[in-house]
Amino acid sequence: MSSTSSCGSDGITVILLRHLLATTFPQHLCRLYHACLRSGQTPARWNEALVYPLCKDRKKPYTATNSRPISLLYLFRKLFESLILPIISASGHMAYSGIQAGFRSGYSTLTNVLTLHHLIEADAARHIVFLDFASAFDRVGWTYLQQELQEQGMNPLVLQLVYQLMYRDMSYSLIVNGCESPKQPRTCGLLQGSPLSPILFNRFINSLLQSLNWNSQPTFPSALFFADDGVLIAPTITKAQSLLNQAASWADRHGMSFNIPKCGYMVTNQPLRTYLPHMLTLNNHPIPHVTSYKYLGVRFESTGIDFVKQGILLSQRVESCLAGMRWFSDTWAPRIRLNIFKSILLPTLEYSLPLLYANYKRDRKAQEWITLTNAYNTCLTWIAGGNAKRPHITAHLLGLLPFVDRAQHLFTRFYLHLMAMEPSNPLRAILDRSNWYPKSNHSMRIHKHDPLLSQFLNPPPAFPKHLSNLQHTPITLLRRTVLEELSTQKFTQIRSTIGPHSSKLLQVSMLANRVPGLDCDLVLTAPVTDQSRFLAWRRGVFGWGRKCLCGERFDRGHTKCMPYPDPGLTQEQQFIYELDRYLIDPDTKYTIVDYLLNNGLWNQARNILNAWTLTMSNLLRSNTTHH
Ligand SMILES: [Zn+2]
Repeated sequence: MSSTSSCGSDGITVILLRHLLATTFPQHLCRLYHACLRSGQTPARWNEALVYPLCKDRKKPYTATNSRPISLLYLFRKLFESLILPIISASGHMAYSGIQAGFRSGYSTLTNVLTLHHLIEADAARHIVFLDFASAFDRVGWTYLQQELQEQGMNPLVLQLVYQLMYRDMSYSLIVNGCESPKQPRTCGLLQGSPLSPILFNRFINSLLQSLNWNSQPTFPSALFFADDGVLIAPTITKAQSLLNQAASWADRHGMSFNIPKCGYMVTNQPLRTYLPHMLTLNNHPIPHVTSYKYLGVRFESTGIDFVKQGILLSQRVESCLAGMRWFSDTWAPRIRLNIFKSILLPTLEYSLPLLYANYKRDRKAQEWITLTNAYNTCLTWIAGGNAKRPHITAHLLGLLPFVDRAQHLFTRFYLHLMAMEPSNPLRAILDRSNWYPKSNHSMRIHKHDPLLSQFLNPPPAFPKHLSNLQHTPITLLRRTVLEELSTQKFTQIRSTIGPHSSKLLQVSMLANRVPGLDCDLVLTAPVTDQSRFLAWRRGVFGWGRKCLCGERFDRGHTKCMPYPDPGLTQEQQFIYELDRYLIDPDTKYTIVDYLLNNGLWNQARNILNAWTLTMSNLLRSNTTHH
């Protein structure tokens, strides 16, 4: 469990628990858990939750409809749930439907997205209906769930535990403006934030998925689900309506309902027509026609993924996030901005990137690629500060890959994910139809009618070396080997071949040790007030646009023209500096500041840069008074 998980109302956190590991506490906890398992009873307090309604859109008033509730549960409960997860998941004679991708290994949102895109591109899926359940998890009632679990042969004791944890005397308190409301009873629904809820939901909805996909070809599923996010796929309108009727009838028998205005019916690969196509209905309500729909966070249009819009969607998210932070972020050190970038901005920008990269591979001029690259580089400039753009050098100093290399890396990881797919994942059957599973580096032909999926037929460059091991090596081991190779060698390789204009600057900083773990330049460990300026020096943009004493534009080649305080190196330091200068390419202009930064001598480096800044601004002042 992550140490940053929020705690429940008892205030016990993961960090606190870690400190108790060396005591007798774990034994007591173990005894408690055993007692729960034997008796099928759990502590009553575990069924209390704290609910924080987080504001969805800060521009609108903070009301119940404009908030997303986050539930906080007791840590001991969540720990217990995680421990019994395998039992809850496997108890009985349960066969999970192959079209359920939610919370399963060997599946992901992107395998669903790629499957759907392929079916549209291959013109097999003429009629598509995106389904939207009305608050699905909150509607799951005990009687319906119990019935399903019993039919799946869940052990009665396990069933009893599910009831204890999810439905017996549930209550919650709302936290609004820092105040806790009185306890309210909660009578229905799977508990949000509980590790068991996703598994139980999968079991609950499984009979619907089995019936929708009954008798379908492995390579042509009738539906794809990710938890409650479903899409129905049909070659004809009759088939589509029949699938909808099944969904409606299942929902009716299970106390569930659909949010019909948010569902969408899309006719694919059809030229735009002036008359309305046929209607599809759900419980006699017509489903809105759509020409564009966001499915699992990816923008679809009638010919598949709308790559251009997807690029805009992702980069706009990143840019609005950046815009929201710009007011405060000026005072943050680059190291802090780098961490924010890695934890918030990068994951946003990278969602669906393997697929976008696959599209870029077949169309190097793809418009969305330019959009995304710009957004990535905007982030780099934001982290480093200043206006100068030098994305390659900046990326290197920050321990990041240039955008296209990062995308290639993610593409490769996604390829590995495909190799580890569950045999029941429809995408597996679709790829295997082309004898896909890579056994050699034999290159496969790209299909004209299926260009996106074809990009995944041939293994990425890092693979051929490992393919011969595949017969003998378990996939997990292969996965680790390839990933390690990608993350270490790839970086080194990029560092040394980063382009003719930047190689000298990079040589300078490569004499220093990288920050372990982050693999970024040493200056990101400098005092926070210095990081921006040191980074500017590293990027060769210190004194950008200013004049040197000699009258020319200042750059690192002009340090000899400028006065600066003696850094007071010891004899040994002086010797190493001279040695560095001797070893490095003479054109590189390895200066005293480079030496100081490479060795973490922050005070001396700061003094010199201060002196130069002062000289340059005095020069600027005297120039302006003369004119
Ligand atoms: Zn000069």
